Amino acid sequence: MESERNAPGRSRGEGGAVLTDTYGRVATDLRVSLTDRCNLRCTYCMPEEGLQWLRGPDLLTDDEVVRLVRIAVTRLGVREVRFTGGEPLLRPGLPGIVARCADLEPRPSLSLTTNGIGLRRTAGALREAGLDRVNVSLDTLRPEVFHALTRRDRHQDVLDGLAAARDAGLAPIKINTVLMRGTNDDEAADLLGWALDEGYELRFIEQMPLDAQHGWERSDMVTAREILAALRTRFTLSPEGDTERGHAPAERWLVDGGPARVGVIASVTRPFCRACDRTRLTADGQVRNCLFAQEESDLRGVLRSDAGDEEVVRVWQAAMWGKKAGSGLDDPSFLQPGRPMSAIGG
Ligand code: SAM
Ligand code: SF4
Repeated sequence: MESERNAPGRSRGEGGAVLTDTYGRVATDLRVSLTDRCNLRCTYCMPEEGLQWLRGPDLLTDDEVVRLVRIAVTRLGVREVRFTGGEPLLRPGLPGIVARCADLEPRPSLSLTTNGIGLRRTAGALREAGLDRVNVSLDTLRPEVFHALTRRDRHQDVLDGLAAARDAGLAPIKINTVLMRGTNDDEAADLLGWALDEGYELRFIEQMPLDAQHGWERSDMVTAREILAALRTRFTLSPEGDTERGHAPAERWLVDGGPARVGVIASVTRPFCRACDRTRLTADGQVRNCLFAQEESDLRGVLRSDAGDEEVVRVWQAAMWGKKAGSGLDDPSFLQPGRPMSAIGG
């Protein structure tokens, strides 16, 4: 009767409601996309010419973002908030949004996923505002490969941004890496060696079918198994603890006996849907219960209809209640979602 007890709209009292689904999973980790725009053009994410960006009036305002985060944290049991995009550092109001979220009670953990460009300028202010942690995406140590992958000459800016994040005390710093066959798949061990030297925690992410161009081919994807094999040519990897990854999407390995670690997010070959604890908000205020969902629920419309917080709670709970068991990636009828990763918020 677990599902009956958790039915949407049946809150467990003021502040006691949760975002749950029919499989008993509870979402406590909120991903907020602050913009769909980006200053890079990673080949696995968006086309060279960019995309049809959201119009300004369609974006949630800073006040609307903070209101939704407040409701999630104070009414719906969300404990972790991660800002992402598109490139979240392009959002001028980011430090203010972070500061206002850091004032919430209970205080959520606050993190950012960024390509790192612009961190050199903003890391200190973001730390000051209350940002706890940062994940920086970096796929290569070679400037020319960076250019081939992102179509921009900004490699040094990312390295400078990383250094600034470390100087600002944002810790731990995690690096997200996608390997592309024939481009940077020979760099797995080099990237790990570099990350160990710099004190960053590296995580490899299998390429997912979320690019705007729909160019993903399963047969072309560099798999977790291949990544681990490449790392083992230079390092000893041992499972961390009892290998229980809990809600964490990354399977983590101790490198050369630890304490340093490396993670592999095998979203395609070893999906973590059963333990998923995420709920997602797009920059235009749509709730998504999964990266791969076809459906969205319009919270911006609720906010702009002058409805009270109670109605936001109801719509958000109903959206999560409909979450499917898994991504459906292995189903022959799998359809890539209409929005690409950059517009969902990775
Ligand atoms: N622009 C920021 C960045 O790159 O970190 C935040 C948004 S980006 C969409 C978030 C993460 O998604 C990045 O680490 C990126 O490498 C990853 N990503 C983008 N497209 C992907 C894909 N098709 N498969 C796997 N990961 C992807
Ligand atoms: Fe931009 Fe991040 Fe997508 Fe690269 S992965 S194009 S940095 S949104």
